[in-house]
Amino acid sequence: MTQERAQRHRARMARRKARVDAGIAAAQQDKGLLLVLTGSGKGKSSSAFGMLARALGHGLRASVVQFIKGRSDTGEEAFFRRQPGVDWQVCGEGFTWETQDRERDIAAARTGWAVAARALADPAVNLVVLDELTYLFSYGYLDLSRALADIAARPPMQHVIITGRAAPQALIDAADTVSDIGDLKHAFRAGVRAQPGIDW
Ligand code: ATP
Ligand code: MG
Repeated sequence: MTQERAQRHRARMARRKARVDAGIAAAQQDKGLLLVLTGSGKGKSSSAFGMLARALGHGLRASVVQFIKGRSDTGEEAFFRRQPGVDWQVCGEGFTWETQDRERDIAAARTGWAVAARALADPAVNLVVLDELTYLFSYGYLDLSRALADIAARPPMQHVIITGRAAPQALIDAADTVSDIGDLKHAFRAGVRAQPGIDW
């Protein structure tokens, strides 16, 4: 009985391996990817910074632009600013419900996109992280078609990661990889404040 079960398991795993190997063999292209990390759950920016760490580990050069930034004392900023190969720019002026100044937010968005566009035009930059970019579209601070045009015109091997809730459909359509991170539970709702190392 146990022998029969072990044999069935082996056969099933062999079939699975054949499927996985065929899938790997079929994916032979290299290209610069556009990734979108959206949704209302926790893990969008930290996923982007995880890929940033991977990229630097491979000796790639990266440019990070943070839009609509909440705080200037995050662990990721302190850490990545110390690393060679990263250009880290903060262009947001704080969350819009804190600044309550639409004109200033729009000006910051314009400046931010100019910085992003420079990175997107630079073939020496292998990875561009546009953190919290989606809010600029939600509030109408940045023209989506203009952003998509700059992204489409980037060097062919350059990767771009965009984070933020409520990614517009046209951005999802343009992307190669999209994750919609769901909010099943968050400690904040149980009264726990943001913890260094986990939340910032
Ligand atoms: P992280 O940077 O932790 O990956 P995120 O980029 O997915 O989070 P943001 O919307 O940018 O999420 O918010 C960043 C901060 O808000 C973090 O401190 C995060 O823990 C917190 N946060 C994220 N999602 C939620 C949520 N659903 N409820 C409460 N707080 C959240
Ligand atoms: Mg974020």
